[in-house]
Amino acid sequence: MKKVVKFGGSSLADAEQFQKVKAIVQDEDVRRYVIPSAPGKRHDNDTKVTDLLYLCYEQVEAGENFKELLSTIQERYEAIIRDLDLDLSLAREFEKIKEQFLKKAGADYAASRGEYLNGIILANYLGIPFVDAADVICFRKDGSLDEDKTDAFLYERLSNLEYAVIPGFYGKAHGGGVKTFSRGGSDITGALVAKAVRADVYENWTDVPGFLVADPRVVDNPQVIETITYRELRELAYMGATVLHDEAIFPVRQANIPINIRNTNAPKGKGTLIVGSTCIRPKYTITGIAGRKGFVAINIDKAMMNAEIGFGRKVLQVFEDNGMSFEHMPSGIDTMTVFVHQEEFEHQEQRIIAALYRSVEPDELEVEPDLALIAVVGRGMRATRGTAGRIFSALAHARVNVKMIDQGSSELNVIIGVRNEEYERAVQAIYDIFVTAGIEVLP
Ligand code: ASP
Repeated sequence: MKKVVKFGGSSLADAEQFQKVKAIVQDEDVRRYVIPSAPGKRHDNDTKVTDLLYLCYEQVEAGENFKELLSTIQERYEAIIRDLDLDLSLAREFEKIKEQFLKKAGADYAASRGEYLNGIILANYLGIPFVDAADVICFRKDGSLDEDKTDAFLYERLSNLEYAVIPGFYGKAHGGGVKTFSRGGSDITGALVAKAVRADVYENWTDVPGFLVADPRVVDNPQVIETITYRELRELAYMGATVLHDEAIFPVRQANIPINIRNTNAPKGKGTLIVGSTCIRPKYTITGIAGRKGFVAINIDKAMMNAEIGFGRKVLQVFEDNGMSFEHMPSGIDTMTVFVHQEEFEHQEQRIIAALYRSVEPDELEVEPDLALIAVVGRGMRATRGTAGRIFSALAHARVNVKMIDQGSSELNVIIGVRNEEYERAVQAIYDIFVTAGIEVLP
C-alpha cells in the first residue's frame, strides 16, 4: 500500500498547520510521497505567498524596488522555521532568488519559489528527502506537459526513495528554466506523482470536509459527498463546483487511482472518495448540484425546420465562425435554442444575429439573457423512478419558472435553465427535496 499526499496552501500557511500536516503524514507509514503547495492565507485578509511572489516579480519587471516585498515573503518562511524550531536557514536561497530576479528569470520562476521553499521546510521538518520538481516534471517546447518523460523521471527517481517531498505547481521548462502549471496546479503534480509511483490512493488534503452536495454559498451547511465517480465529478466541476484542479483528474483517472479529498483541520473525517466506478449507492438519489449564472438563450423559429437538412449545422457554424462554443442546444420540431455564455456573446451579438439571419433565414429569432443553468448530477438517477418528477415539482413549489430542460441519455445529469434571480431558490429547492427530505435511492 502506497499513498501520495498533497497539502494545499491553507494546510501549510503557518507552523501550526505544519504540525497538523506532520501528524497526518506520520499517522500512516504508507503516506510516502508528500506534495506541498506554497503557504496560503492564515486568515481572511491575508495574502497567499504565490500572489505576493507574482506581485514582487511585477515590481522587478517595472524596475521598481522589489526588495521590501521579497523580505516580507522571506519573513513568512522564517516565521514558520522559527516557530517549528528547525535548524534551517533559507538565507542563501533568498540570495539566489534575488539574483535570478535581477536576471529576469520570469514570472513562472518567481511563483514557483513558493512551493520550492515550502518543500524545503517540509522535508526538513519531516526528516525525509527533498526532490526538486524541476528535476522530475518536464514541459515540452510548446509549453504542454511532457507526460511520458515526467512519468519516467518520477518513476526512476522515486523508486529509489521510500519517502520524499516533491513541491507542487512547477517543473522544468523545455531548454531550461522553470515553468508552472496554471493556478492551483499543485493538484496536478500530486496526480502525476500518484500515477508514476502506482499509488493506491491519492490523498488531497485541503480546508473543506470534502466535495459538497451543493455550493455552501447557496445552501447552508451542505452535506459532504462520500463517494463520487470521475464522470460525476467532471459534470459538477464543469458547472462550477471546484475543489480540485480540472487537469488533476486525468492522470489518476487513467491509472484508476482513487482520489480522497480530506480536511487537514478535521483529519478524522473520511472526506470524499473519487473513483472510476463503484457499486456503492449514493446516499441520496442525486450526488450533487452545481450551476452557473450568466447565459443567453438564442431561440430560433422556422416553419418546417425539421425537414431542412443541415439546419443545425448551419446554426452552429455561425457560432464557430465567431469563436464561440455553445453549452446546450435543446430543440423542438420548428424551434431550436442555443445556450451560450452571455459575457462572450454580448460584444458580438449583432454580428451573430445578422449571420444567423443570412445563414438560416429564421421566421423569428429571440434572445433571452440573464439565465442560469443548474446541473443535477447522480449515477443513482438511472435506477430511480420519478427523479425528474421530484425535481420539477420541487421547483414548482418554490415558484421557479423552468426555462429549459436537458437530460442526456446517460441519465447521469439533468440540466435545468432558470432565470438568474431564481437560481439560488432553485438550487435550494432541489437540495431540500433530495437531501433535506432524506429520500434514499429506491432498491
Ligand atoms: N500556489 C499555487 C497557487 O496559488 C499552486 C497551488 O497552490 O496549487 O495557485
